[in-house]
Amino acid sequence: MDSKQKTVYLDNNATTMVAPEVRDVMTPFLCELYGNPSSMHAFGGQVAKFVARAREEVARFVNCSPEEIVFTSCATESDNTAIRGAVEALGEGTKIITTAVEHPAVLQPCRRLKAQGFEEVELPVDSVGQIDLGRLEDEVKSAKKAVVSVMWANNETGTVFPVEKVAEICKAYGATFHTDAVQVAGKLPVDVKKVPVDMLAMSGHKFHAPKGIGILYIRKGAKVRPFMLGGHQEAGRRAGTENVPYIIGLAKACELARLGMDRENERLVRLRDELEAGILATCPNVRVNGDRAHRLSNTLNVSFEYIEGEAIAYHLSDLGICISTGSACASGSLDPSHVIRAMGVPFTAVHGSVRFSLSRYTTEEDIRYTLDNLPKVVRHLREMSPFGPDSDVTTFK
Ligand SMILES: *Cc1c(COP(=O)(O)O)cnc(C)c1O
Repeated sequence: MDSKQKTVYLDNNATTMVAPEVRDVMTPFLCELYGNPSSMHAFGGQVAKFVARAREEVARFVNCSPEEIVFTSCATESDNTAIRGAVEALGEGTKIITTAVEHPAVLQPCRRLKAQGFEEVELPVDSVGQIDLGRLEDEVKSAKKAVVSVMWANNETGTVFPVEKVAEICKAYGATFHTDAVQVAGKLPVDVKKVPVDMLAMSGHKFHAPKGIGILYIRKGAKVRPFMLGGHQEAGRRAGTENVPYIIGLAKACELARLGMDRENERLVRLRDELEAGILATCPNVRVNGDRAHRLSNTLNVSFEYIEGEAIAYHLSDLGICISTGSACASGSLDPSHVIRAMGVPFTAVHGSVRFSLSRYTTEEDIRYTLDNLPKVVRHLREMSPFGPDSDVTTFK
């Protein structure tokens, strides 16, 4: 990519730009206010006061009390701590109930616990990516003790889950409920008094704070064994010296998200819908993945049938447009996304799925530029593809 080329960043569910306001409040805590908040001296003590104020702002963001907020290194740590810590606290015989479309930060710890002998259930989803609440209730009801982990919204499709109902079910049967709320931060109001979850995870870098800072909400009284052992930081729930500059930045990001949410969501829905309508009008054989009736304002997942999502992403990357495919190519394989597959999307469309995710910094011009270029890329790839609606080739292999 040449350096003069414009960048249209439409991969905000992967990470976001740090807001300049966030950067600005962080810098004094690097070279000036660098004391350790646990120190005896006043130099450290003054930093502890800033951390306390930041904790209040983060607590306001999810409507809990500051004592219920634990700062972690990332949402992966928050998810691991919540699930493993709750299962460890409940002990032998605990059933783990989650969904087939969770982020790996939830699925992998659940599967590790399964390998260690715990019963684990991954609830299937329907064609728009929703779980069956009746099935969930049956699983919770039949468990002696249960830890339930259902994400608030899916990172690949934007499908929003009925977490309020899940929380009610868990409460009714005394199950512990954790939700991965990473993708709703700044996109939907989060109120743990209205939606009585026991634990909740968020990540700074998904809403304009830096990478490397996470939130774990733990309801007062919820039994969760700490994961990081060592010092007495975070009231003994997470050892390790506080990441002060990032905590300060995270609080600013929470404040910006809280104050701008309503206005921003309207704008995002308008831009996202413009992108969606533009794609549907210019590209044949396209399907929108996810629950359009319950979907994050900023997310659009589409399958371009008969072509590869990776090829689309590479071609758009050459034009400065950043998007992602469903598949996390961590192992270098081109396995399609577990989320898209779990939804039963037809195989002609599974490989062609791509995600566009917008943010506060996405402009009308970004959407126009994308719509000017994407149909050409799709047409070009389709011309080269041996597959198509009339093709008798029925497999990609
Ligand atoms: C990004 C993401 C995570 C992981 O967050 P990190 O802070 O990068 O560890 C977990 N869950 C969901 C839904 C995500 O989108």
